[in-house]
Amino acid sequence: MATLLKGKEVAEALKQKLTVEVENLKQKGITPGLSIVIVGDRADSAAYIKGAVKRCTEIGIDCRVEELPGDMSQKDFIDDLHRLNNDPAVNGILIMRPLPSQISENAVKYEISPEKDVDCMSPVNVSKIMSGEDGGFAPCTPSAVMEILHHYGIEPEGKRVVVIGRSMVVGRPLSMMLLKEHATITVCHTKTRDLAEETRRAEILVAAAGKARMVKKDMVSKDAIVIDVGINFDEDGKMCGDVDFDEVNPVAGMITPVPGGVGAVTSTILAKHVIEACKVSSLKTMKFMCPKY
Ligand code: NAD
Repeated sequence: MATLLKGKEVAEALKQKLTVEVENLKQKGITPGLSIVIVGDRADSAAYIKGAVKRCTEIGIDCRVEELPGDMSQKDFIDDLHRLNNDPAVNGILIMRPLPSQISENAVKYEISPEKDVDCMSPVNVSKIMSGEDGGFAPCTPSAVMEILHHYGIEPEGKRVVVIGRSMVVGRPLSMMLLKEHATITVCHTKTRDLAEETRRAEILVAAAGKARMVKKDMVSKDAIVIDVGINFDEDGKMCGDVDFDEVNPVAGMITPVPGGVGAVTSTILAKHVIEACKVSSLKTMKFMCPKY
């Protein structure tokens, strides 16, 4: 059986580190702040927000949720966003997506301050991730995958990595983050001709397609490291990943479960990004007040 890569273990280790960082900041009179923005009632976002607020608060981040009316105009939304951009107590802004139809994500992404954009909505952060530049915020989910690999000492360098999925929230940025760490990447998608032929070549296989249990044992090479990003619900309403865990577990060398894998790490990554944003902002303030700093 494969070694389980446990998201909870990764999240706990990161949480301990971040809690110390926040304590150190608080000793200097600095408290990192996160604002989560939700427009209208979205039941699917509620569970994520609850988990994110709990985790960030435990770490010591000042966390608030801005619940905005579902019928608000794009102009009013952007005005609210500018208010958060200019609020010194807010270091990170997380906008829950999708936004209602009258608010264009394409318009909003140019308005969020890149320094506070902790989930990679701004084209500035997207560009930094795509070009491999330091200092940008990647989306939380691919960052969670990287955190799991690092925690378990898995080096992407030189490895054949296959990523199933090319979305802007998971597959595409993750591919670039792995490339930055010198992996050899194949990105698969719905038009890939022979998916199994590609995935069988993977030393690290990442599934981010959103198709319940689509990765079967004949698609995985012996001892491969399998990272399952998918969150799906089967016909019985049971949560499952994109990987058929029971089939693949005996073949793989290491595997993330669902639940308890990548999803268990994302809210702690959010906290990490808020703390990074806070540190950059306080350094800028100090440089402004004391140019020699
Ligand atoms: P998406 O629908 O935007 O993108 C899916 C991608 O997979 C597309 O690029 C598509 O081409 C590819 N794809 C779909 N079916 C395929 C197939 N049969 N063969 C090959 N490629 C295929 O989805 P997303 O937002 O990127 O999310 C992917 C999955 O990750 C979903 O299950 C989602 O719920 C999950 N997710 C998990 C977390 C987490 O915290 N663990 C966060 C975000 C998304």
